[in-house]
Amino acid sequence: MAGIYLHIPFCKQKCRYCDFTSFPNRLSFAEAYMACLYKEIEMRGKQLEGMTFDTVYFGGGTPSLIPPEYIYGAMKQIVRCFSLGKRPEVTIEMNPGTVSEQKIATYKRAGINRFSVGLQTAYDEQLRELGRVHTVRDYLYCTSLLKGENFSADVMIGLKGQTADEVQKTIALAAGSGAKHISMYALTPEDGTPVYTDYLNGELPDADEVAALYDAGYAKLKELGFYRYEVSNFCREGYESRHNLNYWRRGEYIGLGVSASSFSCGKRFTNTFDLDEYMKCILSGFLPVIESEDVAEQDAKFEFIMLGMRTAYGISSAEYRAQFGSDWKQDFKEAYEKTKAYLEEAGDVTRIKGEYLYVQNQILTEYMVD
Ligand code: SF4
Repeated sequence: MAGIYLHIPFCKQKCRYCDFTSFPNRLSFAEAYMACLYKEIEMRGKQLEGMTFDTVYFGGGTPSLIPPEYIYGAMKQIVRCFSLGKRPEVTIEMNPGTVSEQKIATYKRAGINRFSVGLQTAYDEQLRELGRVHTVRDYLYCTSLLKGENFSADVMIGLKGQTADEVQKTIALAAGSGAKHISMYALTPEDGTPVYTDYLNGELPDADEVAALYDAGYAKLKELGFYRYEVSNFCREGYESRHNLNYWRRGEYIGLGVSASSFSCGKRFTNTFDLDEYMKCILSGFLPVIESEDVAEQDAKFEFIMLGMRTAYGISSAEYRAQFGSDWKQDFKEAYEKTKAYLEEAGDVTRIKGEYLYVQNQILTEYMVD
């Protein structure tokens, strides 16, 4: 299993918490950027001949901001230059403040069959506080256009003054709008963003308060029939994100576009974060890679444990042995002994007990130092 990620770095405005590679003032470069992206697709496609990809993901930025014909063109180019599996999952991220019926129709014609919609919260004051361009009404309009489609809603917890009741009402709104999948992420105050100042001023909920919001959200999700398959991801049976599952299983993926990263043939590599440099490289006939590293075996083993333990599926001893030729409980003997109380075993599989999944970072720290 392997995936393709395409980064569309344009946004209407910068959200107060955002540290992604996104440019709020450069929409006029979209056409030139997409021409470069098509070129990069072609260059990478030639390199990866013979490899089959099962998922395609348009992320950003705000892919739904640019003219939908550009997305259509990118998809056409992907189909021309890469070999896709039989029923590929093709997702696009959408900001509810930027959609229209015509855009969604074009996406569907392009082969997009999964939509990821950023709701974040069901309260307009909180959306404004986050610097989002949309309102709850925009979200409802957007999802009314997606009736019967496979779509996911993003929900945020840990907002200034947010209550457990607000989290639950947000989840109820997402589920009621027809979402088959809900991602519930905690707001992360990244250094350099305006939200970081709120954090320094003590205006955001602390870790225990965020954990309580998570528990409230999780309880609501369970009540509404969503099951947790990863610490922050919940869905109705059969609607897991195949693209993200591939990341958590250490599958290969190719990232295209500014700042996109890839993992292939045991190497990780990242494209430049600079939009002008990205376009200059492509126009000069070079791939815009600025960093490339072989993943050392010990790091690969740790990644296997760390990524697998984030999911409800845990890790399989047989899969570990097939990849590394050894027993993970021996390789991480000390950490395993220390964390055993938080783990449960089912045949060949070991996973973090459900009640500890949210604090998996603390548990996995033990594996890092081993
Ligand atoms: S829409 Fe997403 S990528 Fe764009 S500024 Fe907001 S958080 Fe960042």
